[in-house]
Amino acid sequence: MIPGQLADLHTHTILCGHASGQPEEFLDAAIAKGLKYYGISDHLPSPDGFDQESRMMMLQYPEYRQIVQNMKKRAEGSGLEVLYSCEMDYVPGRMREVADFVLPEQYDYIIGSIHTVNGFLVDHPDYTPRFLECGVDFMWNMYFDMLCEFVTGFPFHILGHADLPKVFGYRHSDPATVAHRMGSIFELCAEKNIMVEINTAGWRKPVGEQYPSLELLKLARERGVCITLGSDAHKPEQIAADFDKAIALAEAAGYSCAYTFKNGNPIELPFR
Ligand SMILES: [Zn+2]
Ligand SMILES: [Zn+2]
Repeated sequence: MIPGQLADLHTHTILCGHASGQPEEFLDAAIAKGLKYYGISDHLPSPDGFDQESRMMMLQYPEYRQIVQNMKKRAEGSGLEVLYSCEMDYVPGRMREVADFVLPEQYDYIIGSIHTVNGFLVDHPDYTPRFLECGVDFMWNMYFDMLCEFVTGFPFHILGHADLPKVFGYRHSDPATVAHRMGSIFELCAEKNIMVEINTAGWRKPVGEQYPSLELLKLARERGVCITLGSDAHKPEQIAADFDKAIALAEAAGYSCAYTFKNGNPIELPFR
């Protein structure tokens, strides 16, 4: 990528309860990596009782706003711009409450992600036995259904880790079904101007592969879906991790640029 054009749009903070490192350490890492844009996108607090272990509590939200403000200030003059974002979960039946919370915030962009399928976290090893008990294809099919509802019904800018249920290596038995289901989800994304991120965290997980797979990325490209880059950093040293590999992959899928967002508006960042 052209120096000074990199954007890491998917990063977390210590408030989510499963990250480490002070906000200043994340920011310094982002500056050291030569990023132009550093998007802070922590897990949104959620309606009571939903996955409370993986996110800040509602009453911590002012602290989150403050962290982003402080980092914006601290970054002044560094050549890096801090962006305000969140990772919003799809919580069936509770999205009215989520929307009421999200809509008044002045986010630069919102990442929409699904971590919970059939009532448990698909990316948490504790739930792997339940994932298998339910049946791998069943879980994937349910995930596709949820993705369709989410993309259709709720406004966000970036689809997070699009094929997350593969995290422990459990894949749908029929690649044609995956291509068909994800193809229509990407079509919906294109219609709604939702981008897909190349999330490099998958390289740090048992599956050993970015999200989404190269095959899915090619499908997204064919459907006219644009891309962003995200490390899903939960530690400062993970900021912009493996972005060189992600760009090579994007180019292999036919992309020549990624994007960032500012105040909801996309900005093109050419690779060359
Ligand atoms: Zn996520
Ligand atoms: Zn994340």
